[in-house]
Amino acid sequence: MNQALLDRVRIVLVNTSHPGNIGGAARAMKNMGLTQLYLVEPRSFPDEEATWRASNATDVLDGAVVVPSVEAAIEGCELVLGTSARERRIPWPLKDPRACAAEIGSSQIKGDIAILFGREDRGLTNEELQMCHLHMHIPTNPEYSSLNLAAAVQVAAYELRMFALNEVIEVNEDAGWDFPLANAADIERMHQHMEATLGRIKFVDPQNPKQVFTRLRRMFARIRMDQMEVNIMRGVFNKIDRFLEKTD
Ligand code: SAH
Repeated sequence: MNQALLDRVRIVLVNTSHPGNIGGAARAMKNMGLTQLYLVEPRSFPDEEATWRASNATDVLDGAVVVPSVEAAIEGCELVLGTSARERRIPWPLKDPRACAAEIGSSQIKGDIAILFGREDRGLTNEELQMCHLHMHIPTNPEYSSLNLAAAVQVAAYELRMFALNEVIEVNEDAGWDFPLANAADIERMHQHMEATLGRIKFVDPQNPKQVFTRLRRMFARIRMDQMEVNIMRGVFNKIDRFLEKTD
């Protein structure tokens, strides 16, 4: 059993409307051995309904971290997953919960992992989904695909537990890679720098920059960048910035 893996997983509930779902999610987490609950601007928390639905998992609620934004919730994470009940316009790497658990447990990922769960009425926004390396879809009946929020947390947490239970911990997980993986905040700063610099050299159509940036974000999400690779990209943009300053 790899409890250390479960300890590194953050369950992030974004703008939850019904406090009962927060309690239900906390209970599902504790049943499966997860502890880190992050709440992005919940409508009502703490709340009696959450406490009641959590049953004996009130310790998970007590330890919940309430944050003002998704960025704050995923700060420091090496891997970010977004859950979605339906297809999105721009296809993104998408896996079922079992395959996601295997990704999360892969020996390349050593830091924290965040799994984002959306609003009861409209899920996660496209912007939020684009912050994710990978999307998780629970394969449901396509005619009725949306699970209750706490039920979705339950399925994801169960698959993580099954993975952790079966895992034989490798003795030397570090072998073979020279730099640690970049965390989500470093990658976000790289994207912002890239978007600013590409704007300055007029690479993107100012009328419609979004598609290109979305595609670049998706491309960089497909490879797991290490810290040195992010530094190299930042170095390239810095050089272009300096060059532009000279020619201004
Ligand atoms: N109408 C919303 C459904 C939101 S359900 C929508 O179309 O997106 C609330 C949350 O539960 C979702 O944001 C997601 O986090 C989770 N969820 C529900 N059904 C899911 C499924 N089939 N696969 C993955 N996550 C699901």
